[in-house]
Amino acid sequence: MTKPYYIGAHVSAAGGVENAPLNAAKIGANAFALFTKNQRRWEAKPLSAKSIDTFKENCERLGFGPDQILPHDSYLINLGHPEKEALDKSRNAFLDEMQRCEQLGLKYLNFHPGSHLRKISMTECLSKIAESINWALDQTQGVTAVIENTAGQGSNLGHTFEQLAEIIDQVEDKSRVGVCLDTCHTFAAGYDLRTTEACAHTFAEFERTVGFSFLCGMHLNDSKGALNSRIDRHHSLGQGEIGWDVFRFIMQDDLFRGIPMVLETIDETIWAEEIQWLRCATLQPA
Ligand SMILES: [Zn+2]
Ligand SMILES: [Zn+2]
Repeated sequence: MTKPYYIGAHVSAAGGVENAPLNAAKIGANAFALFTKNQRRWEAKPLSAKSIDTFKENCERLGFGPDQILPHDSYLINLGHPEKEALDKSRNAFLDEMQRCEQLGLKYLNFHPGSHLRKISMTECLSKIAESINWALDQTQGVTAVIENTAGQGSNLGHTFEQLAEIIDQVEDKSRVGVCLDTCHTFAAGYDLRTTEACAHTFAEFERTVGFSFLCGMHLNDSKGALNSRIDRHHSLGQGEIGWDVFRFIMQDDLFRGIPMVLETIDETIWAEEIQWLRCATLQPA
């Protein structure tokens, strides 16, 4: 049987992680992303047993399985940090994020690979990132490290498919590493997605370099920045530089079934409409 398309948004977990599935259900989503702690702070209280149980109950009642949920880690974490002390701090925080996912019964953790801060080479930084992933996977079970491609702003790595492949290549347990492609970041990093032909070309290149077998999730965003601008600014679907074609393309290609696809678009008041549009796009002529 073909798997369904799982479509949702990065919803608020204010008041506790258990509220995220409720917020997702309200906008007609069958997938969602969330932060399991404040994404702009290092420290967080452990999840309470009550919060964990209620999260699981709400997910079960509303029909969200682990395949449909893509938690995102803190923005502060840099798994490729050039300095030991800061790298250790990031690694410990990442392990804590992984353990939170384990506790919540989740199977993915989405994160940005890291930055070299112009202090070490790209190759060295990519190796540090892979080492960080290996270190965290060794201490956890059942959670896949899902590397998000970046727009390549500043010294952020992971903006080319080759860099993603280079990290994956150095991860020991290939069954627990994957990729999340953000359409805005992909475009801003220089991969065209503006036409059906451009999408076919870009995703074929992804297949050749990384492989769809590693694709664990998508972030569906239009882009305020132009092609190859290296600017990470999301826009609502169809309102940015990319336009509608890529979203129709994704909704009509079976390769994108069965993984969480999450809006991080800027106007959350239209998320329900955007989700509705994406569902209808499966039926539109290409
Ligand atoms: Zn992200
Ligand atoms: Zn994203």
